Amino acid sequence: MKLQLRHWSERPRILVLMLAVVLPAMALIVFGVVHLRSIQRDKAIEAAFQRNYQQVLAIAEKQIDERAYEMAEDARAKFPDTGNADDLNSFLAEHPDIAHAFLWTGKGEYEFRSQAKRMRDRQFCTESQTISSDLGSWWDMESKTVIGRIKKLEAKEGRHVFIANNWVTRGEKMQYQTLVLFRPTGSTSEHPALAGFIYDTDYLKNSFFPQALNDVLPDQNQDDMSHPQKGLMVRVEKEEYPFATSMYWDGGSPEVERPFESVFPGMVLGIKLRGTTIASISEHLLRTNFLVLGALSLLMGAGLILTYRNVSRELALAKLKSDFVSNVSHELRTPLALIRLYAETLELGRISNSGKQQEYYEIIRKESERLTSLINNILDFSRIESGKKEYTFRETNVADLVRSTLESYRFEIEQNGFQFEQKIDENVPPLWVDREAIARSLLNLVNNAVKYSANEKYLGVRLYRHNSGVNLEVVDHGIGIPAKEHLKIFEKFYRVGDPLVHNTKGSGLGLSLVCHIVQAHGGEVAVESAPGKGSKFIITLPLQRLVGQE
Ligand code: ADP
Repeated sequence: MKLQLRHWSERPRILVLMLAVVLPAMALIVFGVVHLRSIQRDKAIEAAFQRNYQQVLAIAEKQIDERAYEMAEDARAKFPDTGNADDLNSFLAEHPDIAHAFLWTGKGEYEFRSQAKRMRDRQFCTESQTISSDLGSWWDMESKTVIGRIKKLEAKEGRHVFIANNWVTRGEKMQYQTLVLFRPTGSTSEHPALAGFIYDTDYLKNSFFPQALNDVLPDQNQDDMSHPQKGLMVRVEKEEYPFATSMYWDGGSPEVERPFESVFPGMVLGIKLRGTTIASISEHLLRTNFLVLGALSLLMGAGLILTYRNVSRELALAKLKSDFVSNVSHELRTPLALIRLYAETLELGRISNSGKQQEYYEIIRKESERLTSLINNILDFSRIESGKKEYTFRETNVADLVRSTLESYRFEIEQNGFQFEQKIDENVPPLWVDREAIARSLLNLVNNAVKYSANEKYLGVRLYRHNSGVNLEVVDHGIGIPAKEHLKIFEKFYRVGDPLVHNTKGSGLGLSLVCHIVQAHGGEVAVESAPGKGSKFIITLPLQRLVGQE
């Protein structure tokens, strides 16, 4: 009861200590959870991915535009100066990627040529005728505006070509075409000329865009699972399916899209991840973060519980030590006071009765013995604690050792009103033991039996062979020990928190010494006891010890 109360008085200190750690830790965890939840709610990861992909697409568009300009400028440089039909034909022959080429000389001449090789294809032939006639009428309406625009481009951006889109019907479908217009070398302000060509749709679809898209995202490692490859695609605004795709495009719809602004109006650039989606990546990231946070919280909780247990144990030990000091001082003071009292009485010479004198001498002797055994216990304990305790093992007749140890106490025990029963098997084999240590263990147990016997004063000591060892039992019919204390009583300084125990002098060292000594002999000590039913302490010493030492 008393010990419990002491524990409680320590608790606020531990709790303050714990709170100092628990509160910031909890705050950190709660902050972590709230933060992750807000990321989850605001779809912040998805948004960051999308922003990033928008940038990738903007860069991709610039690169593709640049590529288209370079290609168009190259073709322009090789474009014939004259409106000669043969020149246009040979230009087309050199540029299979171009479907149609045309030139207005500015002097009323208009020449239009299509890839001769493909004119056998009926659809292509019709396309050629349509474009040729459309362009014929277009000149009168638009040429001035376009020439003005090209001049502006030349002045502002240093570009000589104007790229526009053109829709034609091929078969039943409308097809996207890229039209390049420029001022040919023969153009003068007096006779403004205009030339141009149209890229073949199949070339754009199968060659130009796939290559351009692959070059935008080079060096993607296929085996790097932590960074899924990005796939790019272009599609015509009015259609869902891709016009052209890059290497890692695995179908489906793009996650982020961006319409082409300058060179390929009407086209849309799209990006997505191969084999996954932004949403599932974000979910995975969040799940990992939640798991890490959970694991960290668990670790922190476990750490706190461990710290709490350690700190409480240390505090309890500190308390036990201070109890020990006061117990020991008390134990030393009583015999010293008695010795002094009886010695002084004897010194005064007033006691003439020799029987009384004898009794006083005996008291002085017994009290000195008690002091010696207490001090021996403390010395042994301090040697054990500092690891300096040494045992001197000798072959010993344990029956003799037990008998002689008890003999010197028998009188005292019996005088205290104890019924003393001793059963020693004379045939137990000799053991290899430290005699003094074993005698001290036995005395500690006998002392306890005497100390903790209130009404029924019985002491039994038994020595007998048991299985592969020798058992030494000390039995009493005293106050007994509750089962939950059976392990603790062998700890240093520990005393049962029972008022009956606290009214009895003690240091809490006896049983811990017994335990240490017996273990040093390779044996073990056990207790059988219940409150009010007495106690039985059993020391088991192994026989092998003897064999091992021989
Ligand atoms: P102490 O100096 O207090 O006797 P011990 O280490 O010898 O220290 O014993 C530890 C505690 O075990 C005692 O305080 C007591 O509560 C309990 N104990 C030991 N032996 C007995 C016994 N024979 N009967 C009842 N309680 C006992």
